[in-house]
Amino acid sequence: MKLDVIAFGAHPDDVEIGCGGTIIKLEALGYTTGVVALTRGEMGTRGSAEIRAREFAAAARVLGVSVHKALDMPDGRVEPNWENKVKVIREIRAHQPRVVFAPYWVARHPDHEAASRIVREASYLSGLKKLDTGQEAHRPFKVLFYQSRFEFSPSFVADISSSHKKKLEAIRCYESQFFSPNKVEHGTGETLISRPDFIERIETRDRQYGTYVGVKFGEPFLAREALRIDDPVGFFGPECLETIP
Ligand SMILES: [Zn+2]
Repeated sequence: MKLDVIAFGAHPDDVEIGCGGTIIKLEALGYTTGVVALTRGEMGTRGSAEIRAREFAAAARVLGVSVHKALDMPDGRVEPNWENKVKVIREIRAHQPRVVFAPYWVARHPDHEAASRIVREASYLSGLKKLDTGQEAHRPFKVLFYQSRFEFSPSFVADISSSHKKKLEAIRCYESQFFSPNKVEHGTGETLISRPDFIERIETRDRQYGTYVGVKFGEPFLAREALRIDDPVGFFGPECLETIP
């Protein structure tokens, strides 16, 4: 199935947190989207791979993506080796996306840094005709990086005001990862996401980036290269007059 966008994450839940609002918005604009996690998240402090798989599927339904898939790279040991790059190349060639979303290359979790590199390199390599996977070669037009733990100065901010509520709903599907005093079966280990104020933190960050561009909620993206604009007059419309609601 052809997709306009594939968002890659190291683990189920990375995409929802980093760029879930943009994915929901793109679906509403009529684009076809997919989410691919490189691992099944089996090393998560809370829950299990089976629980994560169910939560991933539930979140995908909320996001409205056409495809959601978890690859079998070992959680906690994602490495930018050839085997893993080929796994991502196969996904890119199978869906031929125009744009690929990847995690920012500076991260706290080593899997996120490795995932960033794997996805970026695979997006390029996928266009090499002589690299044979039995599929048609395809190079996405652009790889865009979304933010996880560490900040960057964004190339642009996507307005997600219309999709922010649904984004939080998608994140809440990862029930086992959240603070729930009555659900000790998921473990009692504290993680960043299990803190009681996690959703508030996400909301604060999305509001912060929204403020940068004069909208209620925003998600930042970074391109490695300068973005080309062929019509630097027509590109800018009245939405650029920052009127923060
Ligand atoms: Zn992650």
